[in-house]
Amino acid sequence: MQVLNNVKRALLGDVTQEKENPILERRYEEEPYSEPGKTEEFRKKILNASMQNLKSMQSKKNRPKAMAYFDKIVTGSREEEIKKSGKKVLGYFCSFIPEEILYAADVIPIRLCAGSFDTMDVAEGILPRDVCPMVKSSFGFKVLGLPLMELCEIAVVPTSCDAKKKMGYYLADYMPVWMLHLPHKKDSDKSVKLWLEEMYDFKDAVEKFAGKKISKKALEDSTKLLRKRTDAFRRFLELRKAKLIPISEKDFLLVVYVSFFDDAERWTKNVSLLCDEIEKNIERGIGVHSKDTIRLLLTGSATIWPNFKILDIIEKAGMAIAVDQSCVGTWHLYEPVEVEEYSLPGLMQAIAERYLSPSICPCFTVNDDRFDNLTELIKAYEVDGVIYHILRLCQLFDMEAETVKKILEKENIPMLKVVTDYSKEDVGQLSTRIEAFKEMILIREEGEK
Ligand code: SF4
Ligand code: SF4
Repeated sequence: MQVLNNVKRALLGDVTQEKENPILERRYEEEPYSEPGKTEEFRKKILNASMQNLKSMQSKKNRPKAMAYFDKIVTGSREEEIKKSGKKVLGYFCSFIPEEILYAADVIPIRLCAGSFDTMDVAEGILPRDVCPMVKSSFGFKVLGLPLMELCEIAVVPTSCDAKKKMGYYLADYMPVWMLHLPHKKDSDKSVKLWLEEMYDFKDAVEKFAGKKISKKALEDSTKLLRKRTDAFRRFLELRKAKLIPISEKDFLLVVYVSFFDDAERWTKNVSLLCDEIEKNIERGIGVHSKDTIRLLLTGSATIWPNFKILDIIEKAGMAIAVDQSCVGTWHLYEPVEVEEYSLPGLMQAIAERYLSPSICPCFTVNDDRFDNLTELIKAYEVDGVIYHILRLCQLFDMEAETVKKILEKENIPMLKVVTDYSKEDVGQLSTRIEAFKEMILIREEGEK
């Protein structure tokens, strides 16, 4: 039969019907399901959590005025705008999905990694309890039919950690899911080739989804547009190096979180305005923490809006996060697409490289780039200590903690490892440990004088 088909193809060309989408997970069964009557109740709960966060953030002395734009977007104004645009919307997880390809096809991308405690319960009825809170929270958004998940016609899930992989499998019962196959090793020739092929499959699938071909010109334009976004972001990160910390970690993460679903051009413009204001504040000696505040680096599992529990505790203890090493913070937008040749293959090659090689996600077998980056950040941001944040049941970050501990011992930088989730149950215990960590840093500094 196969021989006959091959002969038929050789004689007539490809007579099969449209080629199958190689990245589509096929379990999706028609209608997305949502709990009747629950959507509105949970929508309000989520909005309340955001409002509470904003209230406390807005009360902070010297908060840049330009943050008002990000406050407005996070409390819902973008949802209506996306609906009115009539454009196709694609949701995705993690930081491996090339937005350049989506912008080139006029598709709106939304990163769906969620930090809401309220949506976890309903997910626990379907997923096992012992899954990381981020995955349960994100999945709950779909089950409850909540924004922004509901705007997405398709979800793209990379095979990064096991929790994400299997969430993709279950999510495919509720909506069409594309699984992107991420290699386990990122720097072998084989992996790079595989990933490039995956990027081409992704581009083909996006073209079918959007109903339009992606031209070289469109891809070049979108790459240049997002390059400007990266440039603005890098400027923002540079300003964070100031002695007098110019912006809180909460505000920084809010700005990055808004980029998950905002219009890239407008976001870039507003980050530039924010940077202008911060620059002036630095010149005038205005910061959001006093000069002698202990400067920390936050690394490990993602801290996603509105779950800022760990940041609240650190702030209450009188310390500041000077910089983070997180896929929902510093890493999300940092790397630019470096194009050597503005042809379609040249652009695709550069895009594939951008989303694989520089990644410091712990899902790769060897992750030395993360450790090198950590020591660079410690020096550049003059950090006094490191908080290693692990979301409960996140094995990857937990397993890398030992290596980080050894590296930091060599650098003579103290580290506190905290394992937590999105609930408030452990606030007291965490506060005590973080207070003790602060005391230890103070004693060390006193001893070094
Ligand atoms: S650390 Fe990696 S697997 Fe985890 S959320 Fe970030 S990109 Fe995804
Ligand atoms: S926190 Fe850990 S387990 Fe959860 S999605 Fe991220 S890498 Fe995976």
